[in-house]
Amino acid sequence: MPMPTTPPASSPAPSSPTPAPTLASPTQPQTPLAGAVIVLDPGHNGSNADHLDEINKLVDAGGFKKPCNNVGTGTASGYLESAFNWDLAKLLATRLRTHGATVILTRKSNDGWGPCIDERGQIAARNDADLLLSIHADGSSAGNRGFHLISPASLTGYTGRTAAPSRRAAVDIRDALVAAGLRPANYAGSKGLIVRSDLGTLNRAETPAVMVECGNMLNAGDAALMTSRAGRSKLAAALADGIARYLT
Ligand code: ZN
Repeated sequence: MPMPTTPPASSPAPSSPTPAPTLASPTQPQTPLAGAVIVLDPGHNGSNADHLDEINKLVDAGGFKKPCNNVGTGTASGYLESAFNWDLAKLLATRLRTHGATVILTRKSNDGWGPCIDERGQIAARNDADLLLSIHADGSSAGNRGFHLISPASLTGYTGRTAAPSRRAAVDIRDALVAAGLRPANYAGSKGLIVRSDLGTLNRAETPAVMVECGNMLNAGDAALMTSRAGRSKLAAALADGIARYLT
């Protein structure tokens, strides 16, 4: 696929983000993501709470068992994480398709339950995705704020080959979010990045895979960003730029 100049694999700290061109730059090709297959995973689902027997069923999360799914979190005003994840995934899918990517979502609506975390990862595997991005928001103490990117630890038989490129994708997406003026979490990870071994969606992907926790829904500032259409558009634009940094 035609790609612009490759950025350096390693990136500086968020205080001095790489001055990489964004997708809006007129110097970039019109469809810089042509040929790329991106799986977007809007975390949870709108009716998970009505299907607790199903979502509590244990699945293989990467050599250990974990519940199929859970209900997620939500803002104090009642905007559920499942709805936020879905709303943001739709905006991001539109942006990525505009730039030439093939985008596959792991669920078709926000009305049902599941799929289970193992299946979400396996959708990326079956489609030989260039990247899986799992979209979430956190539910933490009210004083905690900011985004963080999670990449999988290296688990033999699961993520042995994908942990390193997943980490590179997380760095690129982190840098794009910082360049957009968004703040890394003050309560999780370091400089917006963390490696975890316990996330079935990432462990079962067999492709580079990253989870973004866009913010803390129980923090007033983060909630204001996530509940507004303008805030979600800002997040979608920054995530698209980060994906482009990684894939080009
Ligand atoms: Zn979540």
